Amino acid sequence: MALADPSKSSAKPKRKAILGVAAIAAVVAVGAGAWFVFDPPGGPIGPIGLEIPPKIVAQRPPPAAPQFAPDSDRPAAAIRGQAPAEKPLKPQIEPVTPIKIAIVIDDAGIDRKRTRRAISLPGPLTIAFLVYANDVAKQAKAAAAAGHELLVHVNMEAESRAVDPGPNVLLRNVEPDVNLKRLNWQLGRFTGFVGVNNHMGSKFTSDPENMTLVLRELKRRGLLFLDSRTSPKSVGAKIALSMGIRTAVRDVFLDNQPELAAVRRNLAKTEKIARRTGSAIAIGHPRDATLDILAEWLPAAAARGIRLVPVSHLASRQAHPSNHAVKR
Ligand SMILES: [Zn+2]
Repeated sequence: MALADPSKSSAKPKRKAILGVAAIAAVVAVGAGAWFVFDPPGGPIGPIGLEIPPKIVAQRPPPAAPQFAPDSDRPAAAIRGQAPAEKPLKPQIEPVTPIKIAIVIDDAGIDRKRTRRAISLPGPLTIAFLVYANDVAKQAKAAAAAGHELLVHVNMEAESRAVDPGPNVLLRNVEPDVNLKRLNWQLGRFTGFVGVNNHMGSKFTSDPENMTLVLRELKRRGLLFLDSRTSPKSVGAKIALSMGIRTAVRDVFLDNQPELAAVRRNLAKTEKIARRTGSAIAIGHPRDATLDILAEWLPAAAARGIRLVPVSHLASRQAHPSNHAVKR
C-alpha cells in the first residue's frame, strides 16, 4: 500500500527538531553551569536585557540543634534524657533574643569625682541624680552627652529616722500641697531626664495616697517610674501600672555591701535573673568597689552577648517579665 501515513511522514523532521532543541538546551545548561562556577569578579555580567538568575547556593539550612530560650519551661524529663510525657519540645529556629540588663547608678551628683567616673564607664547606663549639688544640671548634661540616660532620684521618707534623706524630702505626714511643691522643686533642678526613681523612701513608697499624688504628677509630665524597691511593702510600681505609667522595678542592689566580691556576686545574680527571664535591672552607687567591678564587667558582659540597655527600655505600661516584682 502506497498510502502515505501523514503522522509518519512528519515524524522524522519533528524528532530532529526535538533533538535540536534538546541539544541547544544542553549547551545552554552547560554554559549556565560554567557561568556559575566561574562567577566573574564583580558579579555576573549578562547580555543586556536578560536577567541573570541568582547565584546557585545551597538552599537547605544546616540542621538546627534544638535550642531553648533562657526562660523556656523545659520539662525536667527532657533534661534527664527521657521522652517528655506531653508538650513535645519544639526546636527553636529563630535566633535567641539577647538578654538585656539595665545598670542604674543612684545617688549621683554629690560625690563629683565618683560621679565623673561613673559617667566615663561604657554605656548606656542610667544615672539617677540626687538634686542637691549646685552644679547638678551641669553634671547631668555631661552624663547625657556621654550617652547615658537620666533619672531624677527623688528623695522620699525612710522608715528609719537615723538616716537623713536630705532637704525637701517627701514625707508622709505633710500636706499634699507641700509634697507636690517639693516634688516639683526636685524635678526642676535639671533637664533631660526620662523619669524618676526613689531615693530611700521605704516609708513613703508604702503609702498609697502619697504615692498616687507623686505618680499623678509623673503621669502629667509623661515620666516613667522606676521603683527602687527599698521596701518590700512599696506600692509604687503597682499603682504606677494601674495608672498606665511606664514602670520598672529594681531586681538587684549591687553594693549594699560595698566590697569587690559582693558587687561581683550581685552582678552574677543580675545576669542569672536576666538569663532566666530575658532582662534584669540592677542598682549601684558611685562607690569605688562598684565602679571598679563595673569597669571590668561591662565590656565582658557585652562580649558574652548581653545587651546593656537604658532603664526606659525595660519600662512597661503593663506587668512585664522584666518587672519581676510587679508580677506578684
Ligand atoms: Zn539613693
